[in-house]
Amino acid sequence: MLSHADVFAVVEIAARLIRAEDFFNDLIYSHYEGTYRKLMAIETTCIGAYPKPSYLRVGNWSESSQEAGDEQDARAFSYVAECIDDPELLDRATREAVQDQVSCGIDIPTDGEQRRENYIHYHCRHLEGFDFAKLTAKVHRNGAAVADLPTITGKIVPRGEHFLDTDYKMAQSCTDRPVKITVPGPVTIIDTSADAYYNDERRLAFDLATALNFEIRALADSGCRHIQVDEPLFVRNIDNALRYGIECLERCFDGVPDAVQRTMHMCCGYPGHLDDPDYLKADPDGYVRLAKALDASCIDRISIEDAHRHNDLDLLDQFLATTIIFGSVSIASSRIETVEEISERLTSALEHIDRDRLVVAPDCGLMMLDRELAMSKLSVLCEAAQSV
Ligand SMILES: [Zn+2]
Repeated sequence: MLSHADVFAVVEIAARLIRAEDFFNDLIYSHYEGTYRKLMAIETTCIGAYPKPSYLRVGNWSESSQEAGDEQDARAFSYVAECIDDPELLDRATREAVQDQVSCGIDIPTDGEQRRENYIHYHCRHLEGFDFAKLTAKVHRNGAAVADLPTITGKIVPRGEHFLDTDYKMAQSCTDRPVKITVPGPVTIIDTSADAYYNDERRLAFDLATALNFEIRALADSGCRHIQVDEPLFVRNIDNALRYGIECLERCFDGVPDAVQRTMHMCCGYPGHLDDPDYLKADPDGYVRLAKALDASCIDRISIEDAHRHNDLDLLDQFLATTIIFGSVSIASSRIETVEEISERLTSALEHIDRDRLVVAPDCGLMMLDRELAMSKLSVLCEAAQSV
C-alpha cells in the first residue's frame, strides 16, 4: 500500500519527467527550427571591395577617379596609387574586413580588396605588357569618366609568380566561411587601359583571358571555391561582350574544377563619390540583351544590381540555369535600406526565379561607404535574407 508521501513522490517525479520532456521537445524544436531556417535562408555574399581603414595608405578607386567634364586637369592625376603599405597592416585590414562581413551575417565574404588601389590595376601590375610609367589620357566608361591610364606596350603575359592564391589563403585563414576572390575581366581591363601595341581588341582580350586563367587556376588549386570575374563593361559594350567577351570568360575559367562556383559581376557603373544622381550609368537593358548568352555560358553565378535602379523582374525568367546574385542594397547612396523594402523586393524576385538560384548581395563593392554605413547596410541585407 502506497503512503501519501509515496504518491506525492511519484507524482512529483512524473511532473518532472513531463517538464523534462517539454524542455527537450522545446530544445529539439528550436534546434530543427534553427536548422530549417538556416537551410531555407537565402544565401548572402559581398561583391568585392570593403571600406579601407585610415591606417592603410593604399588608394581607393573613388579617390583616383574623376568624371568627364570636371574642371581639374585629368593629366594631373594618376590611377596608379603607390602601394607600399606594411604587409602586416594589409593583413590586419583584410582580417577586419572579413570579420566585419561575417559578423553582419554574410555567408560568402570577400577579402575586401584591401591590397588593391583599385580592382583592375592591382592585377595588371602583375602582368607583363603594361607600362605604368607611361600613362595615356583616355575618356572611358562610354564617356562617363576620364583619367590617365597605364599603357599596353607589349604582349600580355603573366610575370610567372602567382599572387592571388597568397591573398586568398590569408583571407581564408580569418574565417571558416568560404572566401570569394575577384579578378578583373578582359573587356573591363581593356576599357581601363590604353592600348598602344595590339590594335586588335579581340586578340588583346584573349591574351588577357589566358593571363587571368593562369591566376584563376592557381586560386582554384589553393582551395578557393568562389572566383568572380568582374565585367561591368559588358553592359556598356554589349557588342564586344557578345562577340568575344563571353568566350573570354570561358577561357578565364578553362580547366577549373566543377567544385568552383564560376561567378561574374556586372553592375552598371558608379561615380567616384556617394549620392551623385547624375553619373552616366550603363543602360540596364544590357542585362536583358546579354541574359540568354550568359545563361548558356560556363558561368554559374551572375551578379547584377537591382537596388540603385530596379530591373523589370521578367529579366530573371530568362535565366534557366544560372544563379543570380541580386543587388539589394545601393552602394552609391548613404540612405540605409529597410529590412521590409529588401524583403518585399526579394519576395517579388522569387516569383521569377527558384529560391536555390537566388543569392543576395550589395549592388557592387562597398568602397564608397564608411565602415559603419557598410556594416549597417550588410546587417539589414542579411536580416532581410533570413526573413523571406
Ligand atoms: Zn560593380
